[in-house]
Amino acid sequence: MLQVKTEKEDILSYLEDASNFREAGAEKVYIPENEEDLKQALAECAATKMPVTVSGGGTGTVGGRVPRKGAIISLERFGRILNIDKEGRKAVLQAGTVIKDFLSELDRQSLFYPPFPTERTAFIGGNAATNASGEYSYRFGPTRKYVRKLRMVLTTGEILEVERGQSFEKDGFIDYGNLRAPLPSYRTPPIKCSAGYFSQESMDSIDLLIGSEGTLGVITEVGVSLIDALPPRFIIIFFFPDEDRITEITGAVKSGFSDVYSLEFFERGSLEFLKKDYPEIPDNACALYIEAVSGSREMEKWAEFGEANGALDTLIGEDPRNYQRLIDFRHRLPENINSFFRQLGIVKVAMDISVPDRHFSEQYSFYRRIMKEEPIHSIIFGHIGENHLHFNLFPRDQKEKERAMEIYGECVRKALSLGGTVAAEHGIGKIKHKWLQAMYGKEGLMEMARIKKIFDPHSILGRGNIIPEEFL
Ligand SMILES: Cc1cc2nc3c(=O)[nH]c(=O)nc-3n(C[C@H](O)[C@H](O)[C@H](O)COP(=O)(O)OP(=O)(O)OC[C@H]3O[C@@H](n4cnc5c(N)ncnc54)[C@H](O)[C@@H]3O)c2cc1C
Repeated sequence: MLQVKTEKEDILSYLEDASNFREAGAEKVYIPENEEDLKQALAECAATKMPVTVSGGGTGTVGGRVPRKGAIISLERFGRILNIDKEGRKAVLQAGTVIKDFLSELDRQSLFYPPFPTERTAFIGGNAATNASGEYSYRFGPTRKYVRKLRMVLTTGEILEVERGQSFEKDGFIDYGNLRAPLPSYRTPPIKCSAGYFSQESMDSIDLLIGSEGTLGVITEVGVSLIDALPPRFIIIFFFPDEDRITEITGAVKSGFSDVYSLEFFERGSLEFLKKDYPEIPDNACALYIEAVSGSREMEKWAEFGEANGALDTLIGEDPRNYQRLIDFRHRLPENINSFFRQLGIVKVAMDISVPDRHFSEQYSFYRRIMKEEPIHSIIFGHIGENHLHFNLFPRDQKEKERAMEIYGECVRKALSLGGTVAAEHGIGKIKHKWLQAMYGKEGLMEMARIKKIFDPHSILGRGNIIPEEFL
């Protein structure tokens, strides 16, 4: 039965996600139990042209599930794992399946879902809608690569079921049977990227839907590929004295070791936020965090590597207790940073930029120069293996806020000049239109708006996500 909440206090929890987007408002939340309910909710919205926003687990960082007005459709009752095919290494899930539940079930069956999304309270539908990356994206890549099938309900009531390998872009069109979308003239760069609608020649039709941030249809089912459970792994954290050498050291890991799952970087300022939990962190050091396949020969190779590159100290997590302690090392950093600055009432300006491998060291030097020259508190950490660092600024007053936004623009322009992206994993949502326009131009946004109208003729779905409202 279709549940509808209209009381203010029942709606409040749907009006936020992990972003600082605060222009929220809604008059009702639909909670469908099945596709018939969902169609009914969408038909009611379409009849009055009421904006409607899809809500998953609410862990997005760009305000995507947070509406400015209208209705919300929550997928929280679409939480069933429909099928796990162990032999075929694949699964079909309802869109509201919580990632934590899915991973636990796979664990029981000695299987693994390679995107391994970092935030386990997210829903699989939200992961597909944002093309989320996870803890092992250095090795496996983002969600996109593992989505085999999507089932969507459109605002017209039509059902769209698309399987990978079924149809491809041809003669400038992406074909869905009854629907045909023109291929945008821009191209998604071949790097870690979740900025705007995906666009590549000969692309699989399913790839336009992945990462469309709740603007084309409501995903109800996701088919994914699986692999066998992973071999035993360990974590090693090297502390190095010289941040300016880190790109060179990272390059040596990339070329010298094949069984690496995670390759992360923590600049020395970011490590300050971990010292209360990990007092053994040396002063004046940055860290390279590596998760790799266990084995005594590998350990020897890593030890030699640390020594050859002048590591000051090393933390190793191989037995379950220490492994978990170092997993927490990685997870705790953003939590500690966020809670520290929240207490001070400071809103961070956070970047999600990635660039092609060959230009990473130039982008990194650009950040380092800003850190040295600017008085605004800033830190860097993140996915160095994928040329994707989170450069965070913490402005204390209005003047610093304005300067922080200028710096953001400078970093974006630098990355774009190097073939990079403004959004490597978090998407555009309602807060990064300006930068998406810097990336693909006004024409690119207008092309996205044209595609959206083919799927959602009244432009009621996910308004303000990816495409600015004035383009719709
Ligand atoms: C602590 C923390 C760590 C994180 N780490 C990472 C990380 O490492 N990598 C990363 O990529 N992200 C990360 N995220 C961001 C977030 O987890 C992902 O963006 C995730 O995919 C959002 O899923 P969700 O179900 O919470 O979606 P929501 O936040 O509810 O929604 C996100 C977007 O997807 C749309 N949507 C949701 N469900 C559907 C559906 N069924 N059909 C159509 N559209 C839908 C919404 O409208 C919205 O635009 C992190 C977030 C937190 C809080």
